[in-house]
Amino acid sequence: MIARVVVDVAARQTDRPFDYRVPEEAEAWIEVGSRVAVPFGGRTVQGFVVGFAQEAEVEPGRLKPIGELLDPTPPLRPDLIELARWMADTYGCTWTAAMQAMIPAALKGKAERMVSLAQNPGAADHAEAAPGLSDALIAWLKRYGPVKLTTLLERFPDEAQAVSGALRRGVLAESAQVRDRLSVKKILTVFPPEDRAAAEAAAAAFPARLTKQRQALLHMLERNEPVPLRRLAEESGFSESIFRALADKGLLSIEAVEEDRDPYAGRRFTPTRPLPLTDAQAAAYRRIAEALESGKPAAMLLQGVTGSGKTEVYLQAIERCIASGRQAIVLVPEIALTPQMVERFKGRFGSDVAVMHSRLSLGERYDEWRKVRDGRVRVAIGARSAVFAPFERIGLIIIDEEHESSYKQEESPKYHARDAAVHRAGQHGAVVVLGSATPSLESFAAARLAPAAAAAESGGQADGPAARVCPGAALRSAEWLPLPERALGLPLPPVDIVDMREELAAGNRTMFSRRLREALTQRLERGEQTVLLLNRRGYSTFVMCRSCGYTAGCPHCEIALTYHQRSGVLRCHYCGHAERQPEECPACGSPHIRYFGTGTERVEEELYRAFPGIRVIRMDVDTTGTKGAHEKLLSAFGRREADVLLGTQMVAKGLDFPLVTLVGVIAADTSLHLPDFRAAERTFQLITQVAGRAGRHDLPGEVVVQTYSPDHYAIRAAQRHDYDGFVREELRARRLLSYPPFCRLALATLSHPELPKLAEAAERFAAALRGAAASAGLLKPLAGGSGAALELVGPAASPIPRLKDRYRWQVMIKYRGIVDAAGLIRQAAETLAGDRSAGDVQISVDVDPQVIL
Ligand code: ADP
Ligand code: ZN
Ligand code: ZN
Repeated sequence: MIARVVVDVAARQTDRPFDYRVPEEAEAWIEVGSRVAVPFGGRTVQGFVVGFAQEAEVEPGRLKPIGELLDPTPPLRPDLIELARWMADTYGCTWTAAMQAMIPAALKGKAERMVSLAQNPGAADHAEAAPGLSDALIAWLKRYGPVKLTTLLERFPDEAQAVSGALRRGVLAESAQVRDRLSVKKILTVFPPEDRAAAEAAAAAFPARLTKQRQALLHMLERNEPVPLRRLAEESGFSESIFRALADKGLLSIEAVEEDRDPYAGRRFTPTRPLPLTDAQAAAYRRIAEALESGKPAAMLLQGVTGSGKTEVYLQAIERCIASGRQAIVLVPEIALTPQMVERFKGRFGSDVAVMHSRLSLGERYDEWRKVRDGRVRVAIGARSAVFAPFERIGLIIIDEEHESSYKQEESPKYHARDAAVHRAGQHGAVVVLGSATPSLESFAAARLAPAAAAAESGGQADGPAARVCPGAALRSAEWLPLPERALGLPLPPVDIVDMREELAAGNRTMFSRRLREALTQRLERGEQTVLLLNRRGYSTFVMCRSCGYTAGCPHCEIALTYHQRSGVLRCHYCGHAERQPEECPACGSPHIRYFGTGTERVEEELYRAFPGIRVIRMDVDTTGTKGAHEKLLSAFGRREADVLLGTQMVAKGLDFPLVTLVGVIAADTSLHLPDFRAAERTFQLITQVAGRAGRHDLPGEVVVQTYSPDHYAIRAAQRHDYDGFVREELRARRLLSYPPFCRLALATLSHPELPKLAEAAERFAAALRGAAASAGLLKPLAGGSGAALELVGPAASPIPRLKDRYRWQVMIKYRGIVDAAGLIRQAAETLAGDRSAGDVQISVDVDPQVIL
């Protein structure tokens, strides 16, 4: 028996299956998807079995045997192996990288799998419950407690299958022990002060000679999360002894820490029952149910205004799906931000739900994943990577807030979860439901333009107005399921647009318009609550000298450093570089150096100043660094412990608080002027989404949007809750400039430490790319006369022209129809690599990029 194994070696040349002989004792339980250790190039590496063969491609004499089968149950399944291959082809990553993205971190060679007798096997006697397990094995486990799985199998090699069966039935229990030396050794971790107020007071009272201690303490107050001591010293620039001194004074605590705990442990979720559906909900539900019934793959766009009851449709569709013996996956944009969503699924399906949560510890994540793989749950909810949940028969994949850019992974493998879901649904005959109040233009095109285009084409009109939309790597068309009204019959809140230029003209120099101030005052009087959004996208608080114009930039990246007020630290959000705020301008020595911009910290301060006694909960990256922080802040707000919830993008998502009757947007247009063709789309989506937080229950809501661009169509359309109007304008612009959904994009970014070398390499790369496209016949005009199938833009400097000491240039490919963009880029990269003078050029590929930096 010969297994074909893809080894975990990060090189493109080795990213293909290699043949290995399967040792006889492993034959019975090795499968496609098994993880194995194999000899490779003189060492032992991990790999995945992707298939079997009768005959080897190498001579039998040179065939090496598999060293070790690493798990009794394969962590991947054949469908995931195939999906990984598709990802590699589509997104230009390696097959290995795609497979690695699918398994929990605990399995990535860092964890030891431990086995013990289960506490509660459900039968009087282990031997009885687990036929095949020898008395000797049971006695051995009883005696030695949790033992390494590999040790157990070494000692009882004949019982491998029985052990596997016993693990599956829960007679034997499994746990993961992290082998990672850092975690096992217990690391010294600094905890923020328990009593903030006292610590702040203490910091203020420090004598001058202890400036460093004071600053270090303020640094920790600002981070407000446990940080390993060594990392803290590195990142803050203060030595470990300074933090130890603070701990000796009792202002901080330093403890040896091993692992995190489960935020859901011991939590109770209020059970809920299905609600009688509204007519629109019922119609959407019926279509989903019919598609489920048919067993054929389908994609549907559930477009429902905020509060239209999309979640109730998801819940009932899932119920239907699992009743038919299949499983369901729910994707949410960022699970840490959506505790209310998790609650609703746990409330309906209880322990039938696995929560795949990035903030869980390695071991906890592994446990949740195993519940899925072993079929102990039927619903998995999680962020993007939950699309890989190893269910056996998937019936339904739901993608909530499908327009969110977090569904695209920004590092390799740079896959889009929406397309991966559609591909996976194709394998399982499953239904994908894309839910949103403001669908992405791609999904809109799939649901509204593609069907019309297909009809036109079959009617002989090859180039009708809607022809040639290219929604995505796998998403081609979708059925449209609209929910035009709020489920509880409430109107959408009126949206007031305030022109901030007029405020300034009227002498109001604060960041709150008169209109917003008045509305907030009313809320305080009535005891109602307010959500304030600071749109930080495209925004930064930076330091500038008022004498000479010097701005503090990162020495490694061409980007301004962000100022953190509380600690006085300037930080680069791209490479992590941190430095102390200068007392005087490094360029001209002037003391008039100060920070600009409206960080959430500053809005908070101004709130306290303008509304004495106001209670504010601030939610941004600085206050939500620790596990469960979002949940804590949100439940405090839900308990009415604050009048205002102030925050960045994260306050816009999925919140449902009955007392919130006012939503304010501090500066709506900061994201409008980014060098990104999706800037208008993102702005419209954000305003619509946050506006949807107001007046969701009995009390009517109202929204105030402050802006310097009151006439922009994205803002105008958001004011009218007019998605169709926005899309009409936006599609016109996209078509004119040839952007998605009228074509697809692939971005190649080249980087090099020296600019002239990079420019030259980029030119040669672009030429090679053009050559490859020409020989594939892609540069000829398409039939129907709407340009060629492929077009190159660049090379040109990237929007962030230098990052981590490397200059960056990019080439953009725009294409339509069936084009292997990743393959073309790979071909051009190989041409360039054949050329020695190119030196240290790195090339990264991003197919269907969401962020063009
Ligand atoms: P969406 O996810 O579309 O923003 P939600 O699912 O949060 O909307 O629903 C908004 C509110 O309407 C929730 O409080 C929900 O409980 C309620 N709701 C949804 N569907 C119904 C229904 N069929 N009958 C009564 N209330 C409903
Ligand atoms: Zn200066
Ligand atoms: Zn940097």
